[in-house]
Amino acid sequence: MAFKKKFTPRRKFCRFCADKDLPLDYKRADILRDFITERGKIIARRITGTCAHHQRLLTREIKRARQMALLFYTAGHSSDVKKKSQI
Ligand SMILES: [Zn+2]
Repeated sequence: MAFKKKFTPRRKFCRFCADKDLPLDYKRADILRDFITERGKIIARRITGTCAHHQRLLTREIKRARQMALLFYTAGHSSDVKKKSQI
């Protein structure tokens, strides 16, 4: 009993279901960025609370965004590491 309530601060919900106007699109890297870690990993559904349907779409859009270089694949590809290699 004592240990059960500890990790439920509030009910998680799917952001895309809650807000129908929130675009789920590879062009909106600013939104997709909320669903990846700082190392570029897609955050699991059980953590973000995204529903199965939207998580599937989200995964696809994140992968598209990576191909378009709007997001990075791993930490090594982000920020100034890339700039240095281009010089
Ligand atoms: Zn949803």
